[in-house]
Amino acid sequence: MENRKKIMNIRKQHKDAVRAFADLKSGYFIVEDNLILPEELVGECDLLKEIYDGNYVDSKDEGKIINFYERIMLGTEQPIAQSDIEVIVDLKNREGSYTTVSIVCYFDKDEAGLVTGYVATVRPLRKKEIEERVILSSFTNDKNPTVFINKVAGFMKANPERYYAFIQFDVKNFRYINEKYGSDKGDEILAYISETLDILCDENHPHCRLTADMYEIVTYYNSREEILDFIDMVDMRLHRYQNIRFTMSYGVSVAPGTSTEYRKHGDEAGLARIENKRVILKKAVFYEDTLMVNVKRNGAIEEIEEEALKNGEFHVYLQPKYKYDKHVAKIVGAEALVRWIDSEGHIKSPAEFIPVFEQNGFLLEVDKYMWESVCRLLRGWLDDGKDVVPISVNVSRSYFRKINLVNYLTKLIQRYDIPIDYFQLEITETTESDDTIAYVTALKDAGFTLLMDDFGSGFSSLSMLKETPFDVIKMDRQFLVECLENKNGRTIVSHMISMSNEMGLDLIAEGVETKSIADFLFDNGCSVSQGFYFSKPVAVEDFESMCFG
Ligand code: C2E
Ligand code: MG
Ligand code: MG
Repeated sequence: MENRKKIMNIRKQHKDAVRAFADLKSGYFIVEDNLILPEELVGECDLLKEIYDGNYVDSKDEGKIINFYERIMLGTEQPIAQSDIEVIVDLKNREGSYTTVSIVCYFDKDEAGLVTGYVATVRPLRKKEIEERVILSSFTNDKNPTVFINKVAGFMKANPERYYAFIQFDVKNFRYINEKYGSDKGDEILAYISETLDILCDENHPHCRLTADMYEIVTYYNSREEILDFIDMVDMRLHRYQNIRFTMSYGVSVAPGTSTEYRKHGDEAGLARIENKRVILKKAVFYEDTLMVNVKRNGAIEEIEEEALKNGEFHVYLQPKYKYDKHVAKIVGAEALVRWIDSEGHIKSPAEFIPVFEQNGFLLEVDKYMWESVCRLLRGWLDDGKDVVPISVNVSRSYFRKINLVNYLTKLIQRYDIPIDYFQLEITETTESDDTIAYVTALKDAGFTLLMDDFGSGFSSLSMLKETPFDVIKMDRQFLVECLENKNGRTIVSHMISMSNEMGLDLIAEGVETKSIADFLFDNGCSVSQGFYFSKPVAVEDFESMCFG
């Protein structure tokens, strides 16, 4: 192998300069004489591993060295395209101050492209090099989109007969990370991502940080599988920084090498990325014409939404909540869910239109209609002397800032003279800022019973619980189903139930589809459930006959 010759040469030249022995099969470190390392790093040690494990680099470079080391380790398992990689870090010297060094690893690889050994050089940068680096990095680094577009143009023009994938991604809920951990940590995470990309991407993967937390990589497109594998590899490295976990949304657009519409393909990948935030189970979304179809379909919904509301096409369906003891199931409440039944009698599912309404603001109109309908229902039952159960309505965060909910809802229930305990609010658990916490608190102070919807579907569930005054947790269906698949998951559910009991919170399980799940929940202390096993959401008349017989 060509690299082997180079490696042998370096070894020959530096015979006397080998200061450290690396453990990875046959790796050597060549440390330049003018670099005085701490004692522990001299002699027979795996220099890189020591740096990786210990406090030998400046804290700002920790992410870099973690990446560098793990990239090499990964190279022993998966073929690596590069023949050498470099990292520049501030390394501790014997006096305890730091020297900027360049560590270059030259790989020795087998036929399959797996790393079998390496020679690494560790060299302090000269003053002039350091100065140059600072100047250079402000122009040519991965944060300059113009430089990036030029690079992409060159990359694609070199092989116009091939296809190219534009991969765009960002950090989900990055705003939340900034708020929770501070923007300095946020910056560190972004720097870590950039550094990771520098190491993961070779010349066949030009990449760029487009804006704060948005990145783009362009590479050859051979097949979806290959791109998904690549994304998997990137994703494997980008989900944690120190103890902070985060996830990414990826979108991909594929373009022929003859195209010069680099920005357009980037925008398409961006659309797909945004779509990826909605489809939780997919790692990445490919831009296709279907996305355009989606845009058109949403447009069609928007055209008719107001007319539909006027025509009374929105209906309240009720899904009963049951208290269950393995033998007897008794209705103790219900959730109001909207159904859109068009003039031809077709029922549209909320999944089709709620996201559109959330985007364009129409959801507030629909919800006002739902809330009032529920009040009217409750009033009718009370007037008829029925044994009324509380009904919960859904409240979306999308309009928290647009309406004074406390005022609006208080007036509404006063107008219908509904005891506040009968009108409950479901709020979806998401990671949100202090002002939503204030909002939720205000609703609580006004006396409403608050249910945290879809608990377990996001990552800040527990921290939200600490900070907000919810009364009831609704365990997310998907979360429950996934947990019940194995022993650890069942333990989590069981602990969650006892934890909520200890905190004085009620717990409702959502999406209970089988008797065995209902029984498991009961055995572990959760006796109120909502799900198809008991009943689907039903029309009001059906609910009345189920509930009041
Ligand atoms: P959600 O509030 O979490 O409502 C529960 C959803 O789970 C309902 O879907 C219900 O039909 C479904 N579900 C209940 N039990 C089972 C089960 O055993 N198996 C399965 N597979 N599904 C079950 P739906 O009615 O399609 O509503 C979906 C989401 O749309 C709701 O989730 C809620 O976030 C939103 N939504 C529905 N109606 C309204 C509304 O009037 N206003 C607002 N703002 N959002 C609404
Ligand atoms: Mg709900
Ligand atoms: Mg739910």
